[in-house]
Amino acid sequence: MQGFNKYYPPDYDPSHGSLNAYRGKHALGDRARKLDQGILITRFELPFNIWCGTCNNHIGMGVRYNAEKKKIGNYYSTPIFSFRCKCHLCDGWFEIQTDPKNTRYVVVSGARQKDEDWNPEENGGFAVHDTEGAAAPVDPLAALEKTTDAQNHLTNVQAPRLEALQSVSEQHNADPYALSSKVRKRFREVKRVEQRKQRVDDHIKGRYGLPASLSLLEENEATRKEAKEEWQRAQRALALEQSNKRRKLAVDVVSIPTLTSKHTRQISTSHNPLTKNPIDSLRARILENTARQTNPFSRPRETANKDGNRVVLGK
Ligand SMILES: [Zn+2]
Repeated sequence: MQGFNKYYPPDYDPSHGSLNAYRGKHALGDRARKLDQGILITRFELPFNIWCGTCNNHIGMGVRYNAEKKKIGNYYSTPIFSFRCKCHLCDGWFEIQTDPKNTRYVVVSGARQKDEDWNPEENGGFAVHDTEGAAAPVDPLAALEKTTDAQNHLTNVQAPRLEALQSVSEQHNADPYALSSKVRKRFREVKRVEQRKQRVDDHIKGRYGLPASLSLLEENEATRKEAKEEWQRAQRALALEQSNKRRKLAVDVVSIPTLTSKHTRQISTSHNPLTKNPIDSLRARILENTARQTNPFSRPRETANKDGNRVVLGK
C-alpha cells in the first residue's frame, strides 16, 4: 500500500511540490535505489531449471528473486534486459538475459541452464535452421565477377532505358497547356460533326415517323449500295405480288361462266377459257348477258339430273 497510504506531515504545504519530492523519495520506493546506475529492482521468476555456479545446487523453475533489471542493448527496436539475481542458497550471483531474436532467456554467467528445450531433430522432426547466418564463404573472384556483371548491366541496359523513359515523359509533359488546348480543339470539332449528323438523323426520323431510339447507319458507299439492292428487291417482290393477284383475278373471272359453258361456247367458240385474257372473257360475259335479256327464249332450260348435276336439256 506504499503508493496509496500517504502521510502528509504538519509542516507540508502544496508549495513544496509532490509529497515524494518533499520527502526525498521515489514513487517506486526502495526498488528505485539503484536507478542512478540504470538498475531497477524487480521480481524475477526463473524460466527454467538451473544449477548455481557457486554452490552447485539445483534451483527449480519458478523460484523468484529480487533481480536487478537493467537494459543492456537493443535487438532492432526491442530492448535487451539483463536480470542479476543473488542465489538464495549461497552468496553467488548469476545473470540471465532476454534474447528477443529467439524469444527466450539465456543464462549469461554464474549458473548453468538445464537443457530441456524441445529438439525436433531428436524427436523425428525437422530442425529449424538459421537461414540468415551461416552463408557459404564468399569467393572473392565470383563476387567480383558478379559486381562487374551488375555494373555492365547498369550502364548498358538500365541507364539507357531509364533515359529513354525520361525523355518520353518529358516530351509528353513538356507543355501541358498546348497539349490540353489541342485536345480540346479536336474534341470540339468532333462534337460539331456529331451534332450535325444527329440533326440529319432526327430530321429523317421525324419525316418517316421512326422511333427516336432507332440508330441509323452511317451513310457511305457500302450502305448506299445495300439500301439500293434492298429497294430493288422489294420492288421486284411487289411486282411479282401484283402480277399474282391479277392472274388470280383472271382465273376467278373465267371460272364463273362455267355454269353456262355450253352456251358460252356458242358465242366465243374455239377459245380455251383458261388461256384467253380476262378482258375478252369479261366482254364475252357481257355480250351473253345482253343477249339473254333481249331474247329470253334463247335461255337454255336447265334441270338437275338424279345425281344433282345440272344438265342442259336444249335450246
Ligand atoms: Zn548458489
